[in-house]
Amino acid sequence: SPALELTALTKSYRNGPTALDDISLKIEQGSFCVVLGSSGSGKSTLLKCITGLVTPCRGEIRVKGRPMTRRNLRTIGMVHQDFGLSERLTSAQNVMAGAAAITPLWRILLQAYPLPVQRKACQLLARVGLTEAHANRRVKALSGGQKQRVGIARALITDPSLILADEPVASLDPRTSAEIMQLLKDAARERGAAVLCSLHQIDLARAYADRIIGLQGGHIIFDGPPAQLDRAA
Ligand code: ADP
Ligand code: ADP
Repeated sequence: SPALELTALTKSYRNGPTALDDISLKIEQGSFCVVLGSSGSGKSTLLKCITGLVTPCRGEIRVKGRPMTRRNLRTIGMVHQDFGLSERLTSAQNVMAGAAAITPLWRILLQAYPLPVQRKACQLLARVGLTEAHANRRVKALSGGQKQRVGIARALITDPSLILADEPVASLDPRTSAEIMQLLKDAARERGAAVLCSLHQIDLARAYADRIIGLQGGHIIFDGPPAQLDRAA
């Protein structure tokens, strides 16, 4: 079954527009999909519906064939625009916190994660190019690019089949953005995870996406490989 399947997903905000209008799509295992659209096109609403932050008015969401519920949220890894990290914790502690859904609460309170989780956090931080010194440094002392590396490691710790990235490079400079996109793509591919990444930059979408889903006013107005973007509408 597909990594993600959306059927007739619709969301109208109470005092707002129809942010998503009858969206249906399937994302296959291992593919890197970019949701491309300008501000207000519905990108965040789409991702928030999948993670349950926004309740859709209609439609169905399936992850690996199963209806999305709070309980299987751990099968999704999330990368955030503002990194979604605790600034006062170290990089390693932030990555381990990504395993919260599968860790007893007392261990989180005492920062006493099981050894396999600690080891995995170290391995993931190394994979995203951070040293042991970075791992033990508080996040607030890191650059934006380093923070997003931690964000990616955090998203991967539960071995998710699907990674959702909401404008992951919006606050980074162009060079760092390219590094982060490459890292996200490679790390996901190594694990066979599908990625749904929202962007407003067409150059990054062209360079990294296997497939671009173009959103405008809550409608899909394009769905295909980057090369197809240049055909006349
Ligand atoms: P994007 O992520 O592409 O910028 P959004 O999903 O944030 O788009 O927004 C889609 C539309 O829904 C916009 O017109 C936005 O103003 C509106 N919208 C988003 N969140 C809310 C909300 N909580 N209440 C009302 N309208 C909203
Ligand atoms: P994004 O960067 O995701 O597009 P925005 O800056 O548009 O987000 O909005 C920030 C927050 O305000 C989001 O949580 C969004 O859902 C909410 N929001 C956006 N537009 C509206 C709106 N017209 N009315 C109420 N809330 C909104």
